[in-house]
Amino acid sequence: MIFCVLVVNLYFIRLECYKIPMEETFEKKRERMVNEQIKARGVTDERILSAFYKIPRHLFVDEKEKSAAYSDHPLPIGYNQTISQPYMVAIMTSYLNLTGRERVLEVGTGSGYQAAILSLLASEVYTIEKIESLAEKAASILKELGITNVHINVGDGSLGLPKDAPFDRIIVTAGSPDIPLPLIEQLEIGGIIVIPVGNRYMQELIVAKKKENELIKKQQEGCIFVPLLGRYGWS
Ligand code: SAH
Repeated sequence: MIFCVLVVNLYFIRLECYKIPMEETFEKKRERMVNEQIKARGVTDERILSAFYKIPRHLFVDEKEKSAAYSDHPLPIGYNQTISQPYMVAIMTSYLNLTGRERVLEVGTGSGYQAAILSLLASEVYTIEKIESLAEKAASILKELGITNVHINVGDGSLGLPKDAPFDRIIVTAGSPDIPLPLIEQLEIGGIIVIPVGNRYMQELIVAKKKENELIKKQQEGCIFVPLLGRYGWS
């Protein structure tokens, strides 16, 4: 009898040892992303952190990338394009210095993730994407999430979005050879533009404030974005 109990116990102990560890939930991964990748690196604005807690990043990536959705790097979203590293989305968002009342233009909708984050921090978000299928996919995810203040357009965003200009803030999420002139024109006086500027492979984040007759530029960290194509981008 004692022998039997011992054998059964041993059997269960063995099973315990072989148990596969439970996969962390998306919520838990998201919390760690916010704390370890964003907050720990200095983006501490509670409104921004709360937006990153709320938006389920895994919905914006392909099925096969879902388990890596909260990792510390960009991910492919098809068509040779990428969803940016979470920290890059956070730092660019923080440079926009949003109060909640702004009308923002985003050039390069991609997956729609950056637009979703902005939707919680600004009044209206206008976003433009040149690849129609990406724009459609982003639109359906935003709809699923019940986000109604993001307006998706298809076209060459290096020309801005004259029909909805001027904007209080502009964010470009593709690497540009320079700041496209139409974007400067479509920015309100006092407005801020955040844009990666450099060559096709490496850029620096530029944060520029528009004054009456000039643009005050500040160079921030180095970054690597897919190229901004189009009339004022790369050919
Ligand atoms: N903000 C996105 C990531 C963008 S990746 C996100 O949160 O997922 C850059 C995107 O810019 C790509 O989808 C690319 O197709 C788009 N793009 C490049 N040049 C463009 C242009 N001239 N006009 C509009 N979109 C452009």
